[in-house]
Amino acid sequence: MTDQTRPWRFATRAIHSGQEPDPSTGSIVPPIHQSSTFLMHDLDTSHGYVYSRLGNPTRQALEQCLPSLEEGRYGLAFASGLAAETTALHLLKQGDHVVSAADVYGGTYRLFAEVLSQWGLEFTFVDATDLQNVADAMRSNTRMVWIESPTNPMLQIIDIAGIARLAHAHGALLAVDNTFASPYFQKPLTLGADIVSHSTTKYLGGHSDVIGGALILSRQELYDRLKPLQSIIGAVPGPFDAWLVLRGIKTLAVRMRQHAENAHAVARYLVAHPKVSRVHYPGLPEHPQHDLAARQMTGFGGMVSFELKPDLELVQRFLRSLRIFSMAVSLGGVESLMAHPATMTHSSVPEETRRRFGITDGLIRCSVGLEDKDDLITDLEQALAGV
Ligand SMILES: *Cc1c(COP(=O)(O)O)cnc(C)c1O
Repeated sequence: MTDQTRPWRFATRAIHSGQEPDPSTGSIVPPIHQSSTFLMHDLDTSHGYVYSRLGNPTRQALEQCLPSLEEGRYGLAFASGLAAETTALHLLKQGDHVVSAADVYGGTYRLFAEVLSQWGLEFTFVDATDLQNVADAMRSNTRMVWIESPTNPMLQIIDIAGIARLAHAHGALLAVDNTFASPYFQKPLTLGADIVSHSTTKYLGGHSDVIGGALILSRQELYDRLKPLQSIIGAVPGPFDAWLVLRGIKTLAVRMRQHAENAHAVARYLVAHPKVSRVHYPGLPEHPQHDLAARQMTGFGGMVSFELKPDLELVQRFLRSLRIFSMAVSLGGVESLMAHPATMTHSSVPEETRRRFGITDGLIRCSVGLEDKDDLITDLEQALAGV
């Protein structure tokens, strides 16, 4: 489907793949086809659009653009990142076992540990930064390995190619949640992953105005199984949401470059600040997996975590005195956000587990936006001066 765009580079594909001018009107931007059903010309439902849960032209444009970003062949769009994940896990059946990185998005952890485990899937959560832990967790019924890199909120790096080899040696699929890096900086399918999952709510949408998800695949055999699951389960995005994600993707390349430049500047500023005890950013040479990050990513992304004194009152005073950064969950939008994992994104994780991951009461996760980086640093400076 996207073959004719293959010689194009990333930024060109992001703007043009799946997005030819509308043949009926010449509209340069793919129209929002806000229709639930489509006129049929004969009794054959195997071609053309029938009903928007099964397929919709606006969603189709997005689904053609997605694989061109990840160097995959097939894309499926969903109503949210978790809708995409839920559908991917329906490749498995009762009694199958999944090895998951422990340090995954909180909602992913709950989907696996609290919901799908009740449907007869078995999960083992391991620290996947050490390949030996993944190897030790593999069983004869392991059918999938699920990881995320960089991880949230500690920004650790997991060796995607190493895990792919391990998973495949055991006949298991590797699924990688590529939300944090975005396909601009990391392409897990080229490192051996079988499935890439996204919360398009984040960098792909890029403007904090839509919830969406996606799965991207290289192999037809997996697409032939997931495509029907997408319409059978039905967690699809509406045409307007698909259009918003597609519009966001057009500027992904320039946005990601600036996100990374700003994040790097923020990370370097924080490292030198006496009130900041630690900074987690894979682009810093002192990050324990900086070399691995430099090997498997082409940039280090826009997320920075750092630690203040583990004092909730102090942390709250800091967050409330910021003028540009907003205290909010989510990430990947043009505006800078700060979240406090211990009380916000990871509050459902038991305290002992949080501590094991390094999620202290002083840890702050920062989605560095596209404002002027000197203004961001001035804002940090005045807020840190008050704590
Ligand atoms: C936000 C997020 C999700 C969940 O996506 P939704 O769109 O909120 O359903 C999954 N993984 C990661 C890494 C995320 O940041």
